[in-house]
Amino acid sequence: MSRIGPDLPPRRRDEFSDWHDLVPEACPDCGCLVFAAKDDPDIVWEPERAWDEGCRNRECHCHTAAVIGRGRSERA
Ligand SMILES: [Zn+2]
Ligand SMILES: [Zn+2]
Repeated sequence: MSRIGPDLPPRRRDEFSDWHDLVPEACPDCGCLVFAAKDDPDIVWEPERAWDEGCRNRECHCHTAAVIGRGRSERA
């Protein structure tokens, strides 16, 4: 996806400090950029307060209850 800027690292650490290659996705509820781990699509990094210009819902769960380097099924 061309929306990934050069400042974004292609890899991130999860909550256990393990590194993962990232796959960009669009949040199904607001359209913002979310990253999933290539080797475990359940682990995601949501944008929290980094809203995309085209965000459809600034109160979306990916902003208000962001999952950062955890399984998306673990959302509080
Ligand atoms: Zn969202
Ligand atoms: Zn959004």
